[in-house]
Amino acid sequence: MKHLKILTANVHHDDQIELDAYERRGGYQAIRKVLKMDPAEVTAEVKASGLRGRGGAGFPTGVKWGFVPKNTGKPIYLLNNADESEPGTFKDRLLMERDPHLVIEGMMIAAWALGANWCCAYIRGEYSFPALMQQRAVDQAYEKGYLGKNIFGSGFDLDIVVHRGAGAYICGEETGLIESLEGNKGQPRIKPPFPAVVGLYGCPTVVNNTETLAALPWIMLNGASSYNSIGTEKSTGTKLFSASGHIKKPGVYEVNMGYPILDFINNECGGMRGDKALKAVITGGSSVPVLRADELEGVTLDYESCMEAGTFVGSGGFIVMDETTDMVEACLNLQHFYSHESCGQCTPCREGAHWVEKIVGRIYHGGGSSSDLSLIGDVTKQIAGHTICPFGDALVVPVQSFYKKFPEEFNERIDSALVSQIGNTHV
Ligand code: SF4
Repeated sequence: MKHLKILTANVHHDDQIELDAYERRGGYQAIRKVLKMDPAEVTAEVKASGLRGRGGAGFPTGVKWGFVPKNTGKPIYLLNNADESEPGTFKDRLLMERDPHLVIEGMMIAAWALGANWCCAYIRGEYSFPALMQQRAVDQAYEKGYLGKNIFGSGFDLDIVVHRGAGAYICGEETGLIESLEGNKGQPRIKPPFPAVVGLYGCPTVVNNTETLAALPWIMLNGASSYNSIGTEKSTGTKLFSASGHIKKPGVYEVNMGYPILDFINNECGGMRGDKALKAVITGGSSVPVLRADELEGVTLDYESCMEAGTFVGSGGFIVMDETTDMVEACLNLQHFYSHESCGQCTPCREGAHWVEKIVGRIYHGGGSSSDLSLIGDVTKQIAGHTICPFGDALVVPVQSFYKKFPEEFNERIDSALVSQIGNTHV
């Protein structure tokens, strides 16, 4: 299958980070076109394209923009969510490092459609180099007069601020991000109200993922119908997947939505490392359920097919595991991440994340018993659906799905622990 390169067409050019080179390759043409359009027309075009949020939720972008109330007398803010922290996910990083003006042009288009004169790129704290490259590109745009007052002679003013977080996963949740940006602890807010109505400093705010924004210049130049002719009916366009794990060619790949998972592993990812057998795949970052190798036949990389298979496209963090992977250890690794990253605001998440990690750790280290399995069931039931933000639901995903898909590995650990306990009793 031939994949259209909408987001990564120019990332292999070393000079693409320079404004002149970006412009020479057709950059900043979409914004010139957009500034002559009515903002409502731009929103309609994005809606018609079928573009969905690429950060994980997959919510239609144009519909999200439509939730922003008009004429409230308050400023409208646009936030570029570049707090890319989901385990296995490193796609936005590529855009910021290799084509930062594409991201800026995407922010410009969204800002015009929304009527936002101030936009912030909130970048993951650990991403010092991507932040540097994004800031450098923003500085170039100001120098050229493409940002600031009266951009492209349109009468429209736009400022873009690059802000680095302090390294907390939960600031990728949009209200956690907003709290952090306001200078508070990065702890998610109770919703409603949603940010579109009450967001940054109490004003209407749209939070869009970096990849989502970077798709806008192509959509506005080529038209919604060109975009939605790629992919599937409900999952249009292309998507970035950051592939890692036991494959020959880890990296970031742009593929048409609807691409078969097994083709992706065998073609783009170069097949399994050491030609070992495939055991499992996480398609969209650690917060989506794992799939066994025997479940992958016929599953394609799009929202609907992944959901039908019992998982999600998520953030596109594609993690491949071969036959040598210890699934209890892999599960423990992920649970450690979640217990470390809980913001601590709600009790089921704060306490439960550590409980789950402790129990899985006990099983892994040979001290588990069969009652631990029902205890995991009880604890995860108390967490999911009982927290302020979706982190609570996400943190139970690894343990629930790993146990569901690979029960024999958990049971074996417990059985051998029992055997050794009995052995010790008789010594
Ligand atoms: Fe914080 Fe966890 Fe509650 Fe989310 S679910 S607000 S991360 S304690």
